[in-house]
Amino acid sequence: MSSKAKILLVYTGGTIGMSKDFATGALKAFNFGKLLQNIPEIKQLDCEIETVSFENPIDSSNMNPEMWTKIAEIIEKNYLAYDGFVVLHGSDTMSYSASALSFMLENLAKPVIFTGSQLPIGDLRTDAKENLITAIQIASLQENGAPVIKEVCLYFEYKLYRGNRTSKVNAEHFKAFTAPNYPELVESGVHLKLNSHLFLPVKKNAKLIVHKKLDNHVAIIKMFPGMSEIVLSSILEIKDLKGIVLETYGSGNAPTEDWFLNLIQKAIQSGLHIVNVTQCSGGSVNMGQYETSTKLKSLGVISGKDITTEAAITKLMYLLGHNIAKEDFKDIFETALRGEISL
Ligand code: ASP
Repeated sequence: MSSKAKILLVYTGGTIGMSKDFATGALKAFNFGKLLQNIPEIKQLDCEIETVSFENPIDSSNMNPEMWTKIAEIIEKNYLAYDGFVVLHGSDTMSYSASALSFMLENLAKPVIFTGSQLPIGDLRTDAKENLITAIQIASLQENGAPVIKEVCLYFEYKLYRGNRTSKVNAEHFKAFTAPNYPELVESGVHLKLNSHLFLPVKKNAKLIVHKKLDNHVAIIKMFPGMSEIVLSSILEIKDLKGIVLETYGSGNAPTEDWFLNLIQKAIQSGLHIVNVTQCSGGSVNMGQYETSTKLKSLGVISGKDITTEAAITKLMYLLGHNIAKEDFKDIFETALRGEISL
């Protein structure tokens, strides 16, 4: 085996590889070969790079579970042949995809790093080059012949985050992502600063398991003052709905009005899983801290603790795909499976 790390670049689409359609003025995805021609610097990297591209690269607003499976299958098929994977992806739904892939790839022992950019790679002021080059460098890091990073991450604007801890927070700034409840794993300055104590521990010699069944009978409900009974009941009564991420206020608080609690109780009794996450951008759900969350706790609402909405909805899809017994679901959801919640 060569001592140089072998990296597979997986191109799914996104601004990084887009160009302007001069007829409409809108950005659209273009050919991946051209994308790499725009970064001759890539050849100077001390690793071997091969590429694979979606046949039809997409704007990530068109991302869906079938495409997550496609990304997972590319990694599965090439897992033994490469030391690391860099997934080029639109920033709009990158946090959802990184979260989904973190659940789908159990016992991952190699880096899978999502990155992209706010400006196309051909743009003079592009942020794509730094993001791509450093993501590849980090994916190539090795220690004693083994990869240093062994989890699904997201690299953007000088920071490597655990993917399932991130959210896109800015559509304008190059710093488009944050991980409000977990510090960055690596910071890129003059040197790469590795916060190794924050890396996800891996099970020794455990084989990669790729989970491809995701169940999208789920919904996200964001609470707001003035939400009416008919709105909430209409959603909760959707046929075959199995899980809900309920974005509540502050540390997991919601109205104490009877109509609201009765609907939640009825929904849980009929088998719906309801996960409480906060609509704040940082901090944790703590049901029972206020009177306005005590009842939710006693009704059996699941605590999302400090999970992001992106990780919560993809974790729901992942767990619902596993036909877990009703009585075990809450405990399993409240457990950190891939470092997505703090315990
Ligand atoms: N709309 C683009 C996408 O998510 C934005 C980006 O790539 O940054 O595909």
